[in-house]
Amino acid sequence: MKLTELFAQPDPAFGQAMTDLLETFHHSDDSQAPYQRDQFTHQLEQSGMPEAGLAMADYLTRLATLVPGASHLTSPRYMGHMTAPLPAFTAELSRLVVMLNQNPMKMESSRLLSFLEREVLAKLHRLVYRADEPFYGTHMHAKDAALGVMTSGGTIANVTALWLARNRACGDNLFALYEQGYRGAVILGSRLMHYSFDKGMDLLGLGARSVWRLETDQHNRLSLAALEQALAQCKEQKLKVLALVGVAGSTDFGSIDPLPELAAIAAREQIHFHVDAAWGGPTLFSPRYQGLLAGIEHADTVTLDGHKQLLVPLGTGMLLCRQPDLMMAVKREAPYAIRASSFDQGRFTLEGTRPANALYLDAAFQLFGQLGYAELIEANYDRARLMASLIEQDPAFELMSAPVMNLLSYRCIPPHLQGKVLDEAANEQVNAFNVALQKAQRAEGHSFVSRTQRAVGRYGAQPLTLLRAVLLNPLIEERHIRELLADQKRLGDEIAGQLFG
Ligand SMILES: *Cc1c(COP(=O)(O)O)cnc(C)c1O
Repeated sequence: MKLTELFAQPDPAFGQAMTDLLETFHHSDDSQAPYQRDQFTHQLEQSGMPEAGLAMADYLTRLATLVPGASHLTSPRYMGHMTAPLPAFTAELSRLVVMLNQNPMKMESSRLLSFLEREVLAKLHRLVYRADEPFYGTHMHAKDAALGVMTSGGTIANVTALWLARNRACGDNLFALYEQGYRGAVILGSRLMHYSFDKGMDLLGLGARSVWRLETDQHNRLSLAALEQALAQCKEQKLKVLALVGVAGSTDFGSIDPLPELAAIAAREQIHFHVDAAWGGPTLFSPRYQGLLAGIEHADTVTLDGHKQLLVPLGTGMLLCRQPDLMMAVKREAPYAIRASSFDQGRFTLEGTRPANALYLDAAFQLFGQLGYAELIEANYDRARLMASLIEQDPAFELMSAPVMNLLSYRCIPPHLQGKVLDEAANEQVNAFNVALQKAQRAEGHSFVSRTQRAVGRYGAQPLTLLRAVLLNPLIEERHIRELLADQKRLGDEIAGQLFG
């Protein structure tokens, strides 16, 4: 085959093969190709490239051996991941996004689509901050304004927020802080802050010790007493607080920090207030649940993830800014590409070249509408409440955190400890039991929840192994939840026999 043919016309046989591969994949689960590391690495041990390109048919043979080894995230019995199930129209839409191959970093290389980014960001800004029509009329497409930036995900959005907060405090020069009499700089947030904040502070040259992870109350919310104490300590030690972070939907529990109180404290202390709503932000679509996020409108910056509850493909996140001129604190230009007096989004984004993922968000906004999102979200939050009630009714389980949104944590209790008061030694046994159980369930491949390790108020500071369920798939029905719990009880009986004989 001539190489130019690969660029000219699509091969219909190849298109059909992709459809078939996806069809088969979506009707199976991980049990068809169980995770076995040795086998996986053995399958992929060629470090050399083929000298000449393969024929399409030979490449398809190879592809057919790779796809079954992927994770079957779309199964309604998999309730452990934060990866969004995608509406079916995404498949064709992604073809458009990929083959247009626009680069919204720069107006020249995406034209209308770089303004689509601004429109999408304005819609989400409006969801969070509810500014009025003239505000959006003035700022949405203004040159030196940004209601936010698109990122590849929550991590880069959080890192961008820290970058902004640092530049607001001392420009790009940390030594300016020392000249102001400070001896260092920190950020404050709860113990449940996402680990992207550690990465961000590391990159700013401040290191992991500058991330102060404070205690939480019995509902896994940042303790205000601990915060006031930390603030006093910072003053005493002459540490600049670059940002106060509120979590709106913690990765472990879905818990929400007391945002109105945090906003008031941040205003009092003149600290940049960032809310990490990577998971929880879309709760704002729901009239029933939006009250949970009250106070978020006071945040200087807000992280959202498109690829979680907004149900678009991976690689879509954003940072919103309450004030449209905030982004100027990190403005950069490059004479060959990004001009200072342009509309180029690349002036503010940490990332350079990026895909036009705003198209996915635009499609979802247009096709679901606000009501569609509200319905999808409320149904998921109801599913989580149903699952929690099934867990609470059954002595084989212990609910460890009630769902605030659509995340819940629980654990299985081995038969000999059911109905007993669990001391530290018993909890060690329950930990080992739940690690083995989660692994066995994953290996079997029919159903899935993830696991985490956290202290939970009622057992003091002892780290506990928790099973973590994420109810995100609109196709999950009550029977899937019941079957998942039944799988766990069945596997639990076997494992208890092996562990405790
Ligand atoms: C998922 C998540 C992140 C990180 O986002 P990525 O898209 O994985 O980079 C940060 N914070 C919270 C609360 C999250 O749930």
